[in-house]
Amino acid sequence: MANKSQALHRRRFLKSAGLIAGLAVASSHANDRRNRAVASPSEPSSRKKDKIRHVRAYIIESPRSDDGLPSPKEDVWTNTTLISSPMSIYPEYHDDRGSWGKNVLGRVIVEIEDDSGRVGVGISSCGVPGAYIIEHHFKRFLLNQYVHDVEKLWDQMYRSSIHYGRKGLAIMAISAVDLALWDLLGIQRQEPVYAMIGGQVRTEIPMYATTPNPEYAKRMGFWGAKMPLSHGPADGREGLLKNVAIAEEARSKVGDDFELMYDCWMSLDVPYTIELAKMLEPVRIKWLEECLLPDDYDGLVDVRKAIKSCWLTTGEHEYTRYGFLELLKRHCVDVVQPDMTWCGGLTEAIKIANLARAYNVHVVPHVSATYSYHFCAAQTNCPFSEFIIWGERGNKIEPVFRNLFRDEPMPENGRIKLPDKPGWGMTLNRNELNLQRPFPV
Ligand SMILES: [Mg+2]
Repeated sequence: MANKSQALHRRRFLKSAGLIAGLAVASSHANDRRNRAVASPSEPSSRKKDKIRHVRAYIIESPRSDDGLPSPKEDVWTNTTLISSPMSIYPEYHDDRGSWGKNVLGRVIVEIEDDSGRVGVGISSCGVPGAYIIEHHFKRFLLNQYVHDVEKLWDQMYRSSIHYGRKGLAIMAISAVDLALWDLLGIQRQEPVYAMIGGQVRTEIPMYATTPNPEYAKRMGFWGAKMPLSHGPADGREGLLKNVAIAEEARSKVGDDFELMYDCWMSLDVPYTIELAKMLEPVRIKWLEECLLPDDYDGLVDVRKAIKSCWLTTGEHEYTRYGFLELLKRHCVDVVQPDMTWCGGLTEAIKIANLARAYNVHVVPHVSATYSYHFCAAQTNCPFSEFIIWGERGNKIEPVFRNLFRDEPMPENGRIKLPDKPGWGMTLNRNELNLQRPFPV
């Protein structure tokens, strides 16, 4: 009796407050939801085959060690040109980056296959250790999950590897998986990656070239060329003068209407960088890249305060939004350069781009070819992209990833146009690669 009376009082109150009609509407919406649930199960049959069935991590074993990078014995300028490195301070490792094991890890190639047998491919540079992390650790978060859950899958891989990850190997392994997920998602949806991340803000991407001989880049239609710096602090005054002389010679060959940049590959210190920049002022260098060790954020601030004559860029050895935030909040760079295959993949690169946009900083990914092009096409603050020219003299246009894929987009007259193919639009060159799966679990 008391309950009935309470119910009447409650009903009178709701009516007086004008809420009874609202309750009816809410009830009707609840019924609608129930009806939709009956008509459309939470897992639509059309999506049942979109889940991940297999994850496979490969390395490449071949006589040429051709993992998309020149083998140490090949006559490619990255092997034959003197390039300053963090190890150049040690005489025994001064002349050859191969001598201290720069490429010792090699590629990892990830295939993710869904329940329909569709396969997405992603790559990174973490070799056997990366393959182990992917097969023995990350796979548990991927199997039987929807491919479209890229955010959740990324976050689970990141959080679960935090005690040994954060930067380097683990993030490289996440990158390979993430790129494979986006490839497979595009194949499932029959859309190019750029279309899934907002569409193209530019249909042609202007490219600059990386080569020790900028005159070739100019002839090929690129708008600028980035040269490797040959000498660092260990080479003293003589090396400093040589660095300036190389830039002067390049300027004399390409004229004033072509941009020149220097990639210092983490090999300098603060005083050297400041002096180099001042001596290069007459040459008009567009930017100095990666002058310092990536952890020396405060050093870069000191360089920024002292140098106004050129841009400062860095980031190919930086990882995740957190690493890039360290650079952005110090206002010490004009361009950040995440590598799509290292920084955390596309999922993280989008976050880095959004952070950089808020700081009015450009994002121009380090090499990473097709992965960069789709990303750049869809970002307003990514006005151009990088293309590395191979060959002994940096004069040979061939795929950035060499023989890894059959159909990597190539620049024409210094510009890239992306095809309308699903995913990244590239086919792994399986028959020419000696793929080995070291941890088939
Ligand atoms: Mg670089």
